[in-house]
Amino acid sequence: MDISLAGIPTPTADSRRISHNSMLPSVYDLTRAELTESCNAAGFPAFRVSQLWHWLYRQQAATWQEMHNLSPDFRVWLNKKYHLPAFAPPPNAATPHSATKLLIPLRNGDSVETVILPAGGRNHNPNRYTLCLSCQVGCRFNCAFCASGKAGFIRNLTTGEIISQLMTASATTGHPPSNIVFMGIGEPFDNYDNVLKAARIINDPDGLKIGARRITVSTCGIIPGIRRFAEEGRQFELSVSLHAPENSLRSRLMPANNKYPLPELMQACREYTAKTNRIITFEYTLIKDINDRPEHARTLVKLLRQLPCRVNLIPLSPVDEFDGHPSTSASDFEEALQQAHINVTLRNSQGTQLKAACGQLRFSKNDEQT
Ligand code: SAH
Repeated sequence: MDISLAGIPTPTADSRRISHNSMLPSVYDLTRAELTESCNAAGFPAFRVSQLWHWLYRQQAATWQEMHNLSPDFRVWLNKKYHLPAFAPPPNAATPHSATKLLIPLRNGDSVETVILPAGGRNHNPNRYTLCLSCQVGCRFNCAFCASGKAGFIRNLTTGEIISQLMTASATTGHPPSNIVFMGIGEPFDNYDNVLKAARIINDPDGLKIGARRITVSTCGIIPGIRRFAEEGRQFELSVSLHAPENSLRSRLMPANNKYPLPELMQACREYTAKTNRIITFEYTLIKDINDRPEHARTLVKLLRQLPCRVNLIPLSPVDEFDGHPSTSASDFEEALQQAHINVTLRNSQGTQLKAACGQLRFSKNDEQT
């Protein structure tokens, strides 16, 4: 049952200090193709990049010095050009058997949260967990029921900062995650380039090697992002946060719907499924008497007719600023969808106690006390 902490290199106080102060770009900001281009331009051959990539993503090396098979001149060049962060488990991090929230400090003093969700139920396996990644500090979209947007938008995370959440989780559990969901703080399609670069790095077969179908990007319905995602040519999963089957209700719950109205969003979803041959998962948070009545289920069934999709029903997690309540008729709602032959799952919200459940993540450093 134990998730081992063994084998994680402990960075020296010195390497941590150097990492923290350096204002060079992080080496984790670059995809493998970008790193290859940069190294080749400086005269270093491709096999050096393969070695480096291995040290970064297979060995999780904390210092350039320990990358002993790299030539000294390559290491000197890397040290001048790139920052190599060292990832250590946060102080007092226990072996996560249940949802665990990690506070990730960023180099400029901001911090974000990432959540380790161990595989539960019959599939419990200590080596398998889903990691819920944040992609922005704050969020612009301010969904009524979500804590992440309540203090506004601060900035996009860099690719390296997104990857740093994963590396810190790996250092905490002793293993990289088996699944990735971009469902933490922020809107992935509002930081498209950095998120997709991170997804490609995570998917790289010579590095972390997490299959594209195990990497899910979730959007509040940013149509240009869905269109671009359809052109990626990778089998990443798309989730669309729907939460209402009808336009005016959706605008009330999700202000993004004013810019990207439901009919146009559904059209973009149809085009996505036609173009990619992939299904879409629609997230639907059940809120008592607001979107969980039988008529909402009927309208939802009509809306999703003939669209290759599945529906993920999420219990509402409590958020101070929202006075809605969790649905008491979730299983009736689920059954109504099942009867219409819609593939539906009623998700068990993990982490509510820790404020680590859907929509409860914030970027404030004092959040742990709230
Ligand atoms: N911006 C992205 C990803 C972040 S939110 C998106 O909107 O999809 C991840 C999921 O949690 C979304 O489906 C979101 O709508 C849902 N969520 C937000 N607040 C919630 C809450 N209080 N209870 C349950 N789910 C919530």
